[in-house]
Amino acid sequence: MSQPFQQILPGSAIGVLGSGQLGRMFAIAARRMGYRVHTLSPESDTPTGQVADVEITAPYQDLDAVRRFAQGVSVVTFEFENVPAITAQTAAEFAPVRPGGMVLHTTQNRLREKSFLATHGLPVTPFRRVESPRDLRAALDELGFPAVLKTAGYGYDGKGQIKLTSPEQVASALASVPQQELVLEAFVDFQCEVSVIGARGLDDSFANWGVIENSHRNHILDVSVAPASVDERVASQAIEITRTVLEKLDVIGLLCVEFFLTKTGDLLINELAPRPHNSGHLTFDACVTSQFEQQLRAVCGLPLGSTEMLRPAAMANLLGCLWQNKEPNWRAACSFPDVKLHLYGKLTPKAGRKMGHLTALAASPERASQQVRQARAALTHAR
Ligand code: AMP
Repeated sequence: MSQPFQQILPGSAIGVLGSGQLGRMFAIAARRMGYRVHTLSPESDTPTGQVADVEITAPYQDLDAVRRFAQGVSVVTFEFENVPAITAQTAAEFAPVRPGGMVLHTTQNRLREKSFLATHGLPVTPFRRVESPRDLRAALDELGFPAVLKTAGYGYDGKGQIKLTSPEQVASALASVPQQELVLEAFVDFQCEVSVIGARGLDDSFANWGVIENSHRNHILDVSVAPASVDERVASQAIEITRTVLEKLDVIGLLCVEFFLTKTGDLLINELAPRPHNSGHLTFDACVTSQFEQQLRAVCGLPLGSTEMLRPAAMANLLGCLWQNKEPNWRAACSFPDVKLHLYGKLTPKAGRKMGHLTALAASPERASQQVRQARAALTHAR
């Protein structure tokens, strides 16, 4: 059972539910500090499994496997928040699960998440629950066009989303989305998208890496730059909102708040991710303590580390389309001395699949952004 203030020290084993790149970078940070890492997911030879001490391949619903997994570790955390609630509950019988099952429950579903935020007076994109064509028409009457229709559960990177710009689209939109709970959101004509990643320790300590500016392509994060070019007022508001979300949700671990900054300078929360986030990958190379090491410190009950940024930085995702049937020109990217290459060990490059990223460090965020884009472009130069 959970023992809130017991420290989990190097040499202990940490369990990670999920096995993607977030777990891989967590495992690298944990192993560097002398911890052992066990991962459980339905896949094998995974990005996390390749660097973990133990890789368990089992469906999340295989509760015997979950029990064996949790019995072998001192604490369970996750890198993929859509694990079933029963998985987290079962693991919690044997080891503390951090963040806890309630955090998962709230953030797994857009309606629960948005209702939670609204209830606590936090600024969230205007939204309505949609369960029938009638609800949708009523919601569109209230929120107007354009609007975005999203599935309430299991959505990420723009999956399960349709932008509605006119009443004629309503019937076809309803036909194309899965028959499940939906949420209609007002379309936000934003100035930019930003995120803040917060960490909260067992002693209620809070840390963050400041505001990170994000640009998306086809709904998938493309480039992140830090520090973001937002004014002091916006930065301190975004950080305060993030701190409040972590406290209200009682997160032990990490949580990312993604915001829209509107053209009138207001922050609206788009969504929450209760784990390290793609926009925080640059902290690995650019900060005293990365988001991954901080997740480890938080879930182990250790003091949080400094989040000081050593130099401005930018991160560019490397998606499967860069491969185009041949290996990217790694040598060309490595010829940029201030650019770091991260690859996740995924065996099959598919369009839209996050295969790795580049991080550039520079004297200014603008220069870092320019460098990382140039380095990524170099990957497709003659090989
Ligand atoms: P999501 O999966 O909800 O984070 O959406 C992915 C991306 O789609 C966001 O980062 C935005 O670029 C865009 N997007 C989603 N919802 C909205 C909205 N209500 N208004 C404007 N853009 C949106």
